[in-house]
Amino acid sequence: MHHRSRAPKVLGVGITAVLGLVLAAPPALAGPAADPDPVPGLVSGQDTAAPQLVTGLAEPAPGDPAAAALAHLAAHPDRYRIDPGQLAEIGAERTADGRRTVRFQQYHGGIPVLGAQYLVHLTGEGAEQRVESVGGKYFTGLTAPTTPAVPAGTLRNLALGSLTDRRARAGATAEDHGQVILPGGTGRLAQHFTLRGTDPDTGGPLVREVYLDATAGAIALAHDARTPYTAGDGTTAPTAAATARAEAGAEPATGTAPDAFGRSVKVNIGRLPDGSYQLTDLTRPATIATHDAAGRDYNDFRGGIPADSLPARSPGPDFPASTGSSGATDAHLNAAAVYDFYRDRLGRDGLDGKGGPITSVVNVTNGGAPFPNAFWDGKKMVYGDGGTTYHPFSVALDVAGHEMTHGVIEHTADLVYVGQPGAMNEALADYFGNAIEVTARGMSMSDPKAALLGESLCRTGTPEDCAQRRLDDRRTTVDDYLGAGGGVDNGGVHLNSTIIGGALWDIRRTLDPLTADRLVYRALADYLTPLDDFVDGRNAVLAAGRSLKLTRDQLRTVAAAFDAHGIRAGWENRLGLDSRTLLRDASTPVAPAAANGRWVMTNSDPAGKTPTALYTGSTTAPDAPTRISPEDGRLHGWAATDGRSAAWLAIGPDAQGAWGMEVLTRPLSGGPVRSLFRSSTQQPSDVQISGDDVAYKVTDFATGRSRLHLSHNGAPAVELPLPDGHDLSGVTLKDGVLGWSETWTVGEKRVSAPTVYSIAAGKVTAQYLVGDPSGSTGTEATSTVLAGGRLLWVETPGDRTKRSSIRSGALDGSGVTDVLSGTSPYAPSWTTITASDRAVTFAAPGSKPAGGWTNAALPKLWQLPLTGGTPERLSCNRGGQEKAAADQGTRVIWLDATAGRTDLVVRNRPAGSC
Ligand SMILES: [Zn+2]
Repeated sequence: MHHRSRAPKVLGVGITAVLGLVLAAPPALAGPAADPDPVPGLVSGQDTAAPQLVTGLAEPAPGDPAAAALAHLAAHPDRYRIDPGQLAEIGAERTADGRRTVRFQQYHGGIPVLGAQYLVHLTGEGAEQRVESVGGKYFTGLTAPTTPAVPAGTLRNLALGSLTDRRARAGATAEDHGQVILPGGTGRLAQHFTLRGTDPDTGGPLVREVYLDATAGAIALAHDARTPYTAGDGTTAPTAAATARAEAGAEPATGTAPDAFGRSVKVNIGRLPDGSYQLTDLTRPATIATHDAAGRDYNDFRGGIPADSLPARSPGPDFPASTGSSGATDAHLNAAAVYDFYRDRLGRDGLDGKGGPITSVVNVTNGGAPFPNAFWDGKKMVYGDGGTTYHPFSVALDVAGHEMTHGVIEHTADLVYVGQPGAMNEALADYFGNAIEVTARGMSMSDPKAALLGESLCRTGTPEDCAQRRLDDRRTTVDDYLGAGGGVDNGGVHLNSTIIGGALWDIRRTLDPLTADRLVYRALADYLTPLDDFVDGRNAVLAAGRSLKLTRDQLRTVAAAFDAHGIRAGWENRLGLDSRTLLRDASTPVAPAAANGRWVMTNSDPAGKTPTALYTGSTTAPDAPTRISPEDGRLHGWAATDGRSAAWLAIGPDAQGAWGMEVLTRPLSGGPVRSLFRSSTQQPSDVQISGDDVAYKVTDFATGRSRLHLSHNGAPAVELPLPDGHDLSGVTLKDGVLGWSETWTVGEKRVSAPTVYSIAAGKVTAQYLVGDPSGSTGTEATSTVLAGGRLLWVETPGDRTKRSSIRSGALDGSGVTDVLSGTSPYAPSWTTITASDRAVTFAAPGSKPAGGWTNAALPKLWQLPLTGGTPERLSCNRGGQEKAAADQGTRVIWLDATAGRTDLVVRNRPAGSC
């Protein structure tokens, strides 16, 4: 989706905020680094005093497992730093060899903490019961308030307001899931909503999980809902809804049905009281039912099943040809094969572990067009028809195993579907998908097809060309990790999955397959927790290996597989960046600002002990960032700077507890904080500062009307007149000149005009109309910037097959020139710009190539002279480069995602070609 609104955006901290939360640095190993035992005895936690993992215990803990586990944690406050009163048991499962894992959810003031689960592993029975190991995520620094400062209705409106495209917002709904504490530092009280609507660019569904900071009223975390089989197409969300509709009174029977290739196969079916039959397998504890959507839109099956959709029917026990061509027979057999693998090999009774129904829906389309994908929707599998290029997606047992394993993961480690935890979620689904297929088909691990995923889906071509991913691609963290921002593939959940999926597959090749399957399953079911990263995954697998009594040699083999894929503590530090880091692991990645050798940006303090504040530092010399916002419990950010002072927004309750938004300024060197504007019904944004002048936009929540406020020479702010019906965006301010992009409607057409206003003259001195009231292109001017004595802007054609131009106009209205023509091979399809008096830097937002994401396709920054020329790459860092701010000359700062977290970095000049 194209987000054309210009940052800073008060109501959209943005999806990359999630990276600061879940892409935490790996835990440091405690104890001697040269320990020859590959299983760490103690791994300390990140952002918490509670350990991530403690192994090698044998401490008596008799009695009821949950009570014994809790008593054990309570008995060792110095070791675990856990308050047992904040834990609630969410499951105690017995493993095949008689161990028990007790899984606890952490609460803070009665509110669940997102992804915070702590596990206790017990061995033995009765009086002989002992604690063997303990670990997970428990956050010790939480002091966040537990009552919201923002009214519930306002939070819902703010959540919907995060859909910045007006077309997406129209008709969108917000489902309220209640309160949750987001971990990290002091924690943040958030309200969790699921937004559902239509993606205006693709016409496909838009489903986003959004967490509103209930103290500040800003987006704290947002990501797309989960798990299509391939990246990019079709998202879905779980909701409580109908699953199987196996009719009462059906009796187990057997019959025949054609498979997708027309071969007649034996199937388990249900005989109904009226003598007809349905595709319901009643021979296992879990009822397996298979529906034929008969080409209906996949949206009809998201979350629920329409009342008129029943399992595939037949008047007699021999099912008709459509049962095969729809993919129903294959889905039915594959669901049973997946169930049998988990039960016979791993001792698990179905996806939920309790024999719950297993439902598949086949033959869905994308509004009548082919739907070459499959997904687990939280309750069931949904398979696309495949169209003319692919077979029905249910024919591939590895794809069925992949989708159903997402269901197993949801009932065990529940890995959050973002960044490294999300990539591990995908990796585990790939591992078991392939393991199930290889086992059921009797394939050798050395068969070249064993490591391929979805290789049998294509109607033509080789398996290698057809495969969506391969677990033998030998990718490593240091050489291949693609640090994607949150906007790309949910932070790289498919892009990076084979790095750890490949390590797991190597373990299956080098140990025997059965031992490997038990090992990986135990890590999933008994050691992993929702926020775990790759290194946590390594530690979980090794701890599971110790509990399975793997030999020391076997454990070394396991460790070597992770080593071969670069999954070891500290891998992020070996990536070889060509930029210098100013601020590591920014907690709240809103756009930074820079000028005259200074940067300004929002962050938590280095120890994570206080709420989000505004910091400043030097762009040229290493120094310790200093805080410039007051310590008042509010969220401070969306800053601008002229290198001497900063202007920014503070959001949250004031000393009397009344929620509002305020515009503040302060010299970077310290001194008094000045308030220019405060309101609880009007939203300030686009704050700009130059010398003693400050400008910002104010939008009325109720009417949506925007106005521009200007404080000149330190005087109280006044509203600048704007013609009725005119709206503005992209405020820029420099040396007594204001600029913006003004939009209004002429007849049916929307027009857009970069506008220059002289503060001294008190009037508009230039206005360049770019939208053509008589034409149909709807060209839009955005991203206005004053630099080098001119006004620069981006012109984006309404026709999305055309590229954007970067243009500049004289301040007196005397003419426009191209900085980068839309016909240049370097012109991006849409972009935002930042400029110094010498150079303009633009973002080339990533767009997914047909063959899948690559490093080159991720968001990158380019720079060219203000007078025009050939753009050069600003940095050759692998991974996403976003939210650039020009400093002086060719120096630029930006947010870099290369290291799997968000760092504020700087370069003095472009890198050239990469
Ligand atoms: Zn998946």
